[in-house]
Amino acid sequence: MDCLFCKIIAGDIPSDIVNEDEKLIAFRDINPQAPTHVLIIPRQHIATLNHLDVDDGELIGHMTLSATTLAKEMGIADSGYRLVWNCNREGGQDVFHIHLHLLGGRTMHWPPG
Ligand code: AMP
Ligand code: ZN
Repeated sequence: MDCLFCKIIAGDIPSDIVNEDEKLIAFRDINPQAPTHVLIIPRQHIATLNHLDVDDGELIGHMTLSATTLAKEMGIADSGYRLVWNCNREGGQDVFHIHLHLLGGRTMHWPPG
């Protein structure tokens, strides 16, 4: 499968991994939009949020808790951070393997661009 994030999971493309377990890996974004910018991705290939089904609730919860744990470990939990899921073109999704952005280390603005 021609998926960039599946290649990162397989180790075919190098990445700066900050956490991994049997369900997910977390690595630093190559083009960070904040001082801390980590992507949390499932090992399972799921193209978009629209492809999730009810059985994926545990996985999504696990990814969210992984992000909040990383926020604490990276020292941005108290100052604040943002978790972002982009879906499809108008949502700003460029890589079609779902991923949760963890962004922090600066003030975030609202509404997002
Ligand atoms: P999205 O626009 O939500 O699909 O986010 C995709 C993210 O993947 C972007 O923030 C990119 O900077 C990031 N990205 C693309 N290629 C790599 C890579 N090889 N290693 C780490 N992050 C990447
Ligand atoms: Zn994939």
